Amino acid sequence: MGLTLAQKIIKNHIVSGEMTVGSEIGLKIDQTLTQDATGTMAYLEFEAMGVPRVKTERSVAYIDHNTLQTGFENADDHRFIQSIAKKHGIWFSRPGNGICHQVHLERFGIPGKTLIGSDSHTPTGGGIGMLAMGAGGLDVAVAMGGGPYYITMPKMLRVNLTGKLSPWVSAKDVILKVLQILSVKGGVGKIVEYAGEGVKSLTVPERATITNMGAELGATTSIFPSDEITRSFLKAQGREEDWVELSSDPDAVYDEEISIDLSELVPLAACPHSPDNVKTVDEIGAIKVDQVCIGSCTNSSYLDLMRVASILKGKTVHPDVSLAIAPGSKQVYNMLAQNGALADLIAAGARILECACGPCIGMGQSPNSKGISLRTFNRNFEGRSGTADGQIYLVSPETAAASALTGVFTNPQTLGEEAPIALPEKFLINDNMVVAPAPESEMDKVEILRGPNIKEFPTTDPLPETIAAKALLKVGDNITTDHIMPAGAKILPYRSNIPYLSNFCFGVCDKEFPARCREYGKGIVIGGANYGQGSSREHAALVPLYLGVKAVIAKSFARIHCANLANAGILPLVFKDEADYDRIDQMDELELPDIRSAIAGNSKIIVKDLTKGIEFEAEAVLSARQREMVLAGGLLNYTREQSK
Ligand code: SF4
Repeated sequence: MGLTLAQKIIKNHIVSGEMTVGSEIGLKIDQTLTQDATGTMAYLEFEAMGVPRVKTERSVAYIDHNTLQTGFENADDHRFIQSIAKKHGIWFSRPGNGICHQVHLERFGIPGKTLIGSDSHTPTGGGIGMLAMGAGGLDVAVAMGGGPYYITMPKMLRVNLTGKLSPWVSAKDVILKVLQILSVKGGVGKIVEYAGEGVKSLTVPERATITNMGAELGATTSIFPSDEITRSFLKAQGREEDWVELSSDPDAVYDEEISIDLSELVPLAACPHSPDNVKTVDEIGAIKVDQVCIGSCTNSSYLDLMRVASILKGKTVHPDVSLAIAPGSKQVYNMLAQNGALADLIAAGARILECACGPCIGMGQSPNSKGISLRTFNRNFEGRSGTADGQIYLVSPETAAASALTGVFTNPQTLGEEAPIALPEKFLINDNMVVAPAPESEMDKVEILRGPNIKEFPTTDPLPETIAAKALLKVGDNITTDHIMPAGAKILPYRSNIPYLSNFCFGVCDKEFPARCREYGKGIVIGGANYGQGSSREHAALVPLYLGVKAVIAKSFARIHCANLANAGILPLVFKDEADYDRIDQMDELELPDIRSAIAGNSKIIVKDLTKGIEFEAEAVLSARQREMVLAGGLLNYTREQSK
C-alpha cells in the first residue's frame, strides 16, 4: 500500500510509536521557530533544561508579535531573546525583518523536513512541502534540546483540487471554501494534503496562504507536494539546493477526501466571529466598511501586495475607510520599495505599518467601536482586534483592496480585467537582519540580558492522590485560547510575566475568576466542546496553572491546548457522558478520589460532585507518556526526571 506525502515524512522522522491512526508517535524535529510572545517562555524553559546548544538542524527566534515599545517591557524581551539565542545556537530574526512564517518560508523552510513552532500558524511551512506543526513553547524547548515531538498519528484527508482560479479569486478564497465545507472542527486529528491538477496552478505563497489557515480547521497540519513550482520558488530565493521532489504515492490511501473545482470559486468572506462563518462577498452585499487591514502571515507575500498595489494604483482610498498595510517581510517591503509598488500604495492613502503581526495580534489599529473591519488575516474571534464590538470579516487581499476604494464590501470581480502578476525570477536577498549565533567555543562569553519583565515560569508538584477543589468556572462550547488568556497591546508586553498576566485570565468570560482562584487557592474548570481552540498559546495553560487550576473537565479539547495543559501539569479530562456537563454548576465542590492511581493504571476516573451528591465518570485523553508527564507534574519535571 502506498503512502501519502505526510506519511512519508513521518516515516522518515518517527522515533517511537506505530503509524496507526490514534496512537502516539514521537518525531525527530529538524527545525524549530519561536516568536517573541511565546519565545521568552520557551527559552526560559530551554534554559531550565540545562542543554547548552540546540540540537536541531536550524532553530530561529523571530520578533514579530510585540513590536510596539510604549514601555520597556517588549524591548527587554527582545534583548533577552537575542542574547539567549546567541548563546545557545539559535538564529535571531531582528524586529523589522518580518513575520515568522513569511520569513521562514522565504529563507529557511526546506521540503521534507519537520518543523515545530511555538505559534499555531507554523503549518504555513506546509506550502513548501514541510511537515510543519504548531506546538507549545515547552514542546519547542524540548525539541531544541534534541527530544522528540509527540503527536497522535493523524488521519489523512485529501483535498483534491481541479480547475484553475478565475480572475480576482485567490488562495484565500480556496481556504475559506475548505473552512465552509469542513468547519473549525473539521480538521481535528487530521493532516490535510492538497493534491490534484489544480495544485499546479498555485504558487508557493498561495499554497502557504492555504496551509496557514489549516490551523483554523483545527488540523494537525496541512501540506502541498514539493514540485517544480516549489523548485522555482526556492531557486528565486537562491536556495535551489534545498529542493527535493515530494508527492504522495499513486496508490496512497486517504481516510477522507473532498474535491474543490477552483474554477467554480468566487470571492468569499468569513463573517464575524468565526473563520468558518463563510459567505460569498455578493451574499453579504454592499455594507459600509470602516477599516481595511492587509497583511498577517496569511496574506502579506510579494504576490499579495503586488496585487493590492495594482488595484490601488492611481486611485484614492475612500474617505471613510482607514487602510493599513503591513508587508510580511523586509524582503517583500524592500522589493515593493524598489519596484515602485510601495509608492502606489502610499499615493493611494494606505497607512504603511512595519513588517510585523501588528493589528492581527491586536497591536494597534483596533477598529472604531462597532466598526466593520475587512482583514486579510486568519482569525476574527470576538475581541481579538482590540475592539470588543468590532465586526471583523476575513477576506482576500483583492476583496480588501477593492472595498478600501469603494467604502463598501465589494466583489473585486467588478473591477474589470485583472492585470497578470507573477512571482519574480529572483527575490531580493539580504539576510542582514538575521543574526547568527555565537560559535560554540565563544558561548560562555555571551551574557544573557534579563530585564525586570523576565519572570520565572510557574512550576507544579507531582499529581496528588486526590484532587479536591471547587468548580471555579463553568464555560460553554468553543472556548478559545483568546478567552482563556487574552492578547492585545495592553497584555502582550507581559508574556514573560505570568503573575501580572494572571489578572486577565478568562477576563472575557468572567472577570472575577482570578479573584476566586486567589481566594480558594485551587480550582477546576468545567468546559464545553472544543475547549481551548484557536492557538498554541501555552500561556492559556501556564496562567491557569499559576492560579491553581488542577484539572479541566470538558466535553472535548482542541489538540494543542490539551497537550499544553498536560505539559503544564494540569489534568485534562473529558466527560464520559457529555450529559453530565449539565449536572454540574459553577462553585460545586468536586472531588477526584484516587486520581493518581487511576491515571497511573489507566483505570476508571470517578468525579464526585459533593455539592449535588452525585458522581460521574471522566476519561483522561492522554497517551501513556502524557500520563507519566502529568504524574510528574508536567513536561519540565518529567524531562528532568528522564535525564537523571
Ligand atoms: Fe502573527 Fe497573526 Fe500570523 Fe499569529 S496569525 S503569527 S499574530 S500574523
